Amino acid sequence: MFESLQERLGSILNGLTGRGALSEADVSAALREVRRALLEADVALEVVRSFTDKVREKAVGAAVLKSIKPGQMVVKIVHDELVDMLGAEGVAIDLNAPAPVVVMMVGLQGSGKTTTSAKIAKRLTERQNKKVLMASLDTRRPAAQEQLRQLGEQTKVATLPIIAGQSPVDIAKRAVQAARLGGHDVVILDTAGRTHIDEPLMVEMADIKKVSSPHEILLVADSLTGQDAVNLAKNFDERVGITGLVLTRMDGDGRGGAALSMRAVTGKPIKLIGTGEKMDGLEEFHPKRIADRILGMGDIVSLVEKAAETIDAEQAAAMAKKMQSGKFDLNDLAQQLQQMSKMGGMGGIMGMMPGMGKMKDQLAAAGFDDKMFGRQLAIISSMTKAERANPDILKHSRKKRIAAGSGTDAAEINKLLKMHRGMADMMKAMGGKGKGGGLMRGMM
Ligand code: GDP
Repeated sequence: MFESLQERLGSILNGLTGRGALSEADVSAALREVRRALLEADVALEVVRSFTDKVREKAVGAAVLKSIKPGQMVVKIVHDELVDMLGAEGVAIDLNAPAPVVVMMVGLQGSGKTTTSAKIAKRLTERQNKKVLMASLDTRRPAAQEQLRQLGEQTKVATLPIIAGQSPVDIAKRAVQAARLGGHDVVILDTAGRTHIDEPLMVEMADIKKVSSPHEILLVADSLTGQDAVNLAKNFDERVGITGLVLTRMDGDGRGGAALSMRAVTGKPIKLIGTGEKMDGLEEFHPKRIADRILGMGDIVSLVEKAAETIDAEQAAAMAKKMQSGKFDLNDLAQQLQQMSKMGGMGGIMGMMPGMGKMKDQLAAAGFDDKMFGRQLAIISSMTKAERANPDILKHSRKKRIAAGSGTDAAEINKLLKMHRGMADMMKAMGGKGKGGGLMRGMM
């Protein structure tokens, strides 16, 4: 399998802890690895170049947050730039035009055009309650029209009756007319592909476009397309003028580099992704997921992101000192709880850590949920200063007052006190080792 970018950058950059900003040399070393990772993910060379140039500009001189390592900082910058370049998420198929709205599907043979046409038709029918008509304009492959007819039957979407011998342009005209007469909201035109781009194909696409005035022209492309992706997308966009991209076979083990290449050269949104042969294998595009996949590093980025947002290094250092001295009162606990709840609560933190899924389930089974943080914070804020500093003075009458003030009960207060005692003991035990830096670090 691929070595993740995180791992590679780790070995180069993790030795550099403690520097204030990323230097030109740090960034260059890191970018060599980034370039290699992108090429392995099948991003086209010219796109890799422009991408790394952009990252270089942003990264040199960028401040490294105290709580993370320089390698993680670079990964974060690379990731953000990738997400930015991949573009907006959830760009829907635009049906904002007088009915029947024509959606023209273009692409190479075998890219998944016919399958995707039917998937989109099904989706528009079921989710947006649209009346859809599909028509196959593929007169070259004998079985193509029949394939679409069968998919129509399967998805319960109407297909244009097949008339042998008609040209693609004539079928397109007939489809639009039939949709108008039949009161269809949308017509999906599934055009013919070729094994490669050639002049007759481009001419045919342009002719179909002329007679059917499509509102959307979607380029369907296999996400496993490598260096050809740029050429493919550029050609279709320049010659036919596409309005969006659909990447198929995202369920395979490709790294999704084609998404970046095609988006970069056309600037057109990736509207949907195909995730299986079945008719429901169609999903909205999430740039963050694809960026993670291209970089091959799971959720480490979101962890760094959240840590950067929430962990104040100074505060962590002060906490470490307290722990070492064995003093950890309820004020400190409140601070830790606040930090954890900002990071998405216990579940959020555990979910981001590789291999922590099981522990998360166990915590949930023990009644440890995210709402608990809120209740615990309410309990602590209902206490007096003296009570927070010295929980031992909390006897029955005080607990009653606090329960009323926080909308909880004595059992919940006892649970909190027990947890605090356990943590304080643990920290006292850890204190001697001179490490620490917050509960978070202790947990990780
Ligand atoms: P066309 O020549 O462009 O119309 O391609 P088809 O729609 O006939 O698809 C070619 C093959 O790819 C078929 O076997 C489809 O089932 C398969 N296919 C299409 N989209 C996907 C996808 O998103 N994932 C997977 N795994 N297979 C797909």
